[in-house]
Amino acid sequence: MDGKELAARIRADVARQVAAFGRPIGLATVLVGDDPASDVYIRLKHKATLEVGIEARDLRLPATASEQELLALVAELNADDAVDGILVQLPLPDRIDENHVINAIDPLKDVDGIHPVNAGLLVAGTTGHVPGTPLGVLALLDEYDVELPGAHAVVIGRSDIVGKPAALLLLHRHATVTVCHSRTRDLASETSRADVLVAAVGVPGIVQPGMVKEGAAVIDVGITRTDTGLVGDVAPEVAESAGFLTPVPGGVGPMTIAMLLTSTIRAARYREGELAHPSA
Ligand code: NAP
Repeated sequence: MDGKELAARIRADVARQVAAFGRPIGLATVLVGDDPASDVYIRLKHKATLEVGIEARDLRLPATASEQELLALVAELNADDAVDGILVQLPLPDRIDENHVINAIDPLKDVDGIHPVNAGLLVAGTTGHVPGTPLGVLALLDEYDVELPGAHAVVIGRSDIVGKPAALLLLHRHATVTVCHSRTRDLASETSRADVLVAAVGVPGIVQPGMVKEGAAVIDVGITRTDTGLVGDVAPEVAESAGFLTPVPGGVGPMTIAMLLTSTIRAARYREGELAHPSA
């Protein structure tokens, strides 16, 4: 599955929507500290944002910033009419309570879909904002016509930003969903029953060829930096028996960024009243 190609098409469509919107659309990102991986993600997001004509604000706070300073910045962005979307790059330094910050973001501007209101709406099946990575996973499965109703989908990973929302999206599309995690007793026996396998762990090669059903659609969300570059959770040999496999890099990564852009347009539409946010 070619995430780069699909993401490029989605970005081109977003650019057309931005040009036709009638007013500028703004996305503000906030990065606390100087974690090199987070810095790379923010840079990639900004490059893509600017390319589609969305106005990007790159806000940085020092690693020493207090929770109060960050909350004050979020409040400022909530009140700023020129800002449609707010993305606070996680993880935050240990001193700062992530939940306090997430809860402070205006749910209409929460383009990462992590505010409890948006997370709750996803559970209820009437979606508001949804995290970009699971949206990208579903967009790839749809692009390659992978049948979801009745399919057995296995998601490895249960984080709030990837595993859980991916499982919920698959469930809403009528897949039979199993969620695996670090306490799962026999991972291979679970994964080998999957028609659709989503690996979101961050352990290189945790999915080996013997663990995957012939013809399965395998989505590798994992990203680990090694001396030889980025590697995913799925051993490359899985490609020999899988029906589909996303590469790392060039699979889910570009889709995450493309879906952030679609969420920013969605946020602007919520704010203009063109779309009703289910919580409104
Ligand atoms: P996370 O919060 O660390 O969650 C990892 C999940 O994997 C946890 O639920 C954990 O289980 C589970 N896990 C750990 N070891 C396991 C094992 N041996 N067997 C089964 N499950 C195991 O990470 P995340 O934010 O969800 O990200 C997951 C991966 O995706 C990372 O590599 C991250 O870099 C990557 N990622 C990629 C993109 C992209 O755009 N491609 C976007 C976001 C994240 P417990 O809950 O029991 O601890």
